[in-house]
Amino acid sequence: MDTAVNRDLFLEKLNVLITGKRGDNCFYFSREKYSKILSEVVSAKTKCNTPLDYRRLKRFDVLKINDEEKLIVPLKPGETNIQYYVTNEELFSILYEAHARTGHGGRTRMLKELQNKYKNITDEVVMLYLNLCKQCQMKHSAPKKGIVVKPMISSELNSRCQVDLIDLQSNSDGEYKFIMVYQDHLTKFVQLRPLKTKRTEEVTYHVLPIFLTFGAPAILQSDNGREFSNQVISEICAMWKDVKIVHGKPRHSQTQGSVERANQDIQNMLTAWMNDNNTNKWSEGLPFVQFAKNTTYHEGIRQSSYEAMFGIKAKRGIASSFLPSEQIASIETEEQLEEIANTFETEEQLEETGNTSEKNLSCGQTENQIPKKNIEEDLQSTTSSHQVLNEKHELISIKRAAAKENLLLQATKMLRTSQNQFPPAQIGDTVRSP
Ligand SMILES: [Zn+2]
Repeated sequence: MDTAVNRDLFLEKLNVLITGKRGDNCFYFSREKYSKILSEVVSAKTKCNTPLDYRRLKRFDVLKINDEEKLIVPLKPGETNIQYYVTNEELFSILYEAHARTGHGGRTRMLKELQNKYKNITDEVVMLYLNLCKQCQMKHSAPKKGIVVKPMISSELNSRCQVDLIDLQSNSDGEYKFIMVYQDHLTKFVQLRPLKTKRTEEVTYHVLPIFLTFGAPAILQSDNGREFSNQVISEICAMWKDVKIVHGKPRHSQTQGSVERANQDIQNMLTAWMNDNNTNKWSEGLPFVQFAKNTTYHEGIRQSSYEAMFGIKAKRGIASSFLPSEQIASIETEEQLEEIANTFETEEQLEETGNTSEKNLSCGQTENQIPKKNIEEDLQSTTSSHQVLNEKHELISIKRAAAKENLLLQATKMLRTSQNQFPPAQIGDTVRSP
């Protein structure tokens, strides 16, 4: 595979890293160590009478799917998110996939992404990988944070949205010369469209369907100037009689830096996508960048934009299921999926009287880490859809409230930093005005 990270070099550096660790460290498992622990856990589950048995069962459990045994973190009652232990040999491909999925995500995005499914992937290993990524070394850094006067937090979806253009005239893709970036201020959910011109009609042509799908904002603003957002609003109102939108203040302090950083981030991700796919057609990469940006961890809201928008994590088909990746790769049909779900069920029936954590696997309530639950929902639709929708609605409210809280925290921090960096001027101070 053609990668931005040289596999052999990674393995070499990983080897150096591991050699420096004690043999009994709890993060780096060679294949031998992994199978040794696995058999210890299996035997501890049947007897559990030595201190070692207790220690093993405290940290590990074994998940058996399709005759394959995997070491996982024991699930607490009510928990359904399965975290696997991985061997050193598996690290490269796992990091490679997570890095691609996050659009060459940095440290935080990578760690958040990996924690969803894996237990023992360390910060050190992630940094080792990122430092070897040629793409990531070429990223342009985001502009510095400017002065913050009065942070403003949106409390609802669509209370304030932003439409901006990224100018790519010097690097046009055929007829496409601009990227339209549309973003909701609360959820940070972005929509990206390639544009041929920056004419209001063309922007409106792309913005209107978004409004008619997700709803229209109360306030629309733009870094491209008040005139620009004003024209877009007039065009929209001319076509859609029932809507009323006001344009935002031109320099909206708190969001300023955030938008510039987001736009730089989009360009970095797009450049990486083009290099990874060996193409100059950035217009084709936009939907992928949009997905990566929306579905990975956002530091401001401390969740992904997709979660803030829809209340659940985004799915990539069964690739997002809890199944081990080797198994996911081999499933092609619905029958095969059912078969795996059935082996799972048998396990559960066998375990009915014994181990509680195995049982918890199948009675979890959170969304769809469990394929059996997935399949049942799909095939039989046993739960009332009304009930499911109500639950989803609650979840969305919780996620959005959290997004707002986290933005408030971030705003307070930004304000404090800004005040420290740019203290109020005193009479007699020499100041420079732009
Ligand atoms: Zn990278």
